[in-house]
Amino acid sequence: MNKPILLSTPHIGDRELEFVKEAFDTNWIAPVGPNIDAFEKEFCRVVGSQHAAAVSSGTAALHLALKLVGVTTGDEVFCSTFTFIASANPITYLGAKPVFIDSDRTSWNMSPILLEKALIERARIGNLPKAVVLVHLYGQSADIDPILQICDLYSVPLIEDAAEALGATYKTRSPGTFGRIGIFSFNGNKIITTSGGGMLVSDDAGLVNQARFLATQARESEVYYQHTQIGYNYRLSNVSAGIGRGQLLVLPERVAARQRNFKIYQQALGNLSGVEFMPEADYGTSTRWLTCLTFDSDVSGIDREKVRLRLLEQQIETRPVWKPLHLQPVFANCESIAGEIAEDLFNKGLCLPSGSNLTDEDLERVIHEIKKIYH
Ligand SMILES: *Cc1c(COP(=O)(O)O)cnc(C)c1O
Repeated sequence: MNKPILLSTPHIGDRELEFVKEAFDTNWIAPVGPNIDAFEKEFCRVVGSQHAAAVSSGTAALHLALKLVGVTTGDEVFCSTFTFIASANPITYLGAKPVFIDSDRTSWNMSPILLEKALIERARIGNLPKAVVLVHLYGQSADIDPILQICDLYSVPLIEDAAEALGATYKTRSPGTFGRIGIFSFNGNKIITTSGGGMLVSDDAGLVNQARFLATQARESEVYYQHTQIGYNYRLSNVSAGIGRGQLLVLPERVAARQRNFKIYQQALGNLSGVEFMPEADYGTSTRWLTCLTFDSDVSGIDREKVRLRLLEQQIETRPVWKPLHLQPVFANCESIAGEIAEDLFNKGLCLPSGSNLTDEDLERVIHEIKKIYH
């Protein structure tokens, strides 16, 4: 029996254990300590942000970000529809409602044109959303400049969900650093991991301090326990931050390995009938966190599910691309602005095994099994 090939698994480097050991040796086994402070500083340097707060997950970071820009009960928040549900769940934690916006074909991310139309219409009727959550999917930045411009025009804060896009560029800078607040994830399947964790970044020191405050039960600086606001228990552990520090040191290699996976797949499979790889928009570089491609059965008679099931038989894990959030039963009563492009991508799209720790043999095996379906 073949060994399983998984979609995206943790890939630990040489230094993580050193930082973790330091935490043990100094007894900083708490959601406070020197690894956390250092991880935040080092992360800022890597993405080019002024300030950062390390938290327990990307979802927690997004929850704090939405709260910090003032989202509250009864508000509406615009959000990319083509994404993982964690992009929208925190909107509902605050009693607000998501409105989903479709993608464009060139980036698979939120269409600036649709966003502009929607904001113009909302301004006309005096019902602007409280924020926009812009997702940078599968390691590729959305087209940030026009989106930021239109958000600024209507004074709607932009929150960037860069959970999947650490290491990517938009016109030489890191996505996640353009909007009022950006968030990143260090879940086990992301490009680097802390076994679970997230980061909130902003150039506004006040916002990031407020994020740290809310993440530690909104405890005021008194000797006794004093609270004037409701907070959360969202800080990252000093042990996990140690893993993160080690992972940051290998980020460039992890990005390069995933980009290489993509190239190898594309060279081998790009000419198959009806197959198209996720395009790379010309304004930046994608990390190719996951290699995604679409199978058009009208062209070849071979659809995504056929490929997925054949690979599964061979112990090769793949996943359909994200099911758009406007199609999720839990959001059935939410408004959606178009959605056909995300739906089409969902019907045809598949994510191949993409970990930075895949071997050439693993890649060859995946390629071989897909080619076999076409012969
Ligand atoms: C992983 C992910 C998140 C959530 O991050 P967690 O650390 O798992 O909470 C949010 N948005 C997107 C697009 C993601 O892929």
